[in-house]
Amino acid sequence: MSIHHKDETQQSRRGSIRKNSRTDAPSIVIEQWVMDLKSRSTNMPGRTADGRVPLKMHARWLLLAGASVLVSACNSDSPVGAADNRAPSFVSTPIKSAEHNRAYSYTVDAADPDGDSVSVTAPVLPRWMTFNGATRTLSGTAGWDNLGSFPVSVAASDGEETVTQPFSINVVRGEIVCNQEFGSPDSSAYRLPFSVGRSYRVIQSYCPANPAWGHHNWFAYDFDMAIGDTVLASRSGTVFAVVEGNANGTDCSGGKENFVFVAHDDGTAMQYVHLTTNGALVSRQERVAQGQPIGLSGNSGCSSGPHLHVALFRSLTNFDRQSTLPFNYRNAVGALDVNHGLLQNGQYTAN
Ligand SMILES: [Zn+2]
Repeated sequence: MSIHHKDETQQSRRGSIRKNSRTDAPSIVIEQWVMDLKSRSTNMPGRTADGRVPLKMHARWLLLAGASVLVSACNSDSPVGAADNRAPSFVSTPIKSAEHNRAYSYTVDAADPDGDSVSVTAPVLPRWMTFNGATRTLSGTAGWDNLGSFPVSVAASDGEETVTQPFSINVVRGEIVCNQEFGSPDSSAYRLPFSVGRSYRVIQSYCPANPAWGHHNWFAYDFDMAIGDTVLASRSGTVFAVVEGNANGTDCSGGKENFVFVAHDDGTAMQYVHLTTNGALVSRQERVAQGQPIGLSGNSGCSSGPHLHVALFRSLTNFDRQSTLPFNYRNAVGALDVNHGLLQNGQYTAN
């Protein structure tokens, strides 16, 4: 397009128009002006509904306002285009909360008032999330390392203008996922907490459906061990907590359990709870081997009868139910459930 230009072109045009303005319009030059103007989407005075500029009016305006003003107004490309375009906007509302262990998904919807096709991208995303451009969906599952607030920004563009939708996703601790594969017992790092040849029943398994049960939403097992039965370390590690001064007998007032906690070398930790009074056989910071006697079972604290409660925690930082991990034993003879976990009322013999 020739209006873009060199000054000499403009000069020569101005010259032509001026020189000929009082006589007949120089048809070739004026026609070129009109062609140029028509090809731009602009709001020039005197424009007709179909976008054409009437020659006569156009010429008059040129003379009154001066050609250079018009040339400069018509030559600034982007403002002319943007003035007519309307930006797209977001129709969808961001989902700003997520739970760890649970899939997060937010499908972005954007519309354009001009009917332009809109492309959506995600310039800012947490590492645990991906964006599918075809479905315009943000998705991902936050893990334990992803608790907290994460900035996100999605962008919608109609090719001319881009709008963004910035927000934050807050990830909180979610319930454990009870129904999951525990892994093959053959590859388990854990042995049953009692001697080879002994057999005990699981009086409460993991994740009972009834919320009134203690293991609801927990990975934990209760074995029906009697007061005084020997408890073995299921895995080697370092003892990091010992309590043994409490009496046997049901006391749910809180903190009346005797226990031994063993920290494993991979950062996980196992608790052995409800030990009998003075039932700890190890001391804090003592190194223990797998299968080593660490305590005597009992009925201390909040317990409905003598038993050993065991649970595996992902770290030493949280000991709530959401921090428990699924596990089984590699030497347990007895039926397992579909997840390879121990069954409620299952009987298990150590081999
Ligand atoms: Zn228990």
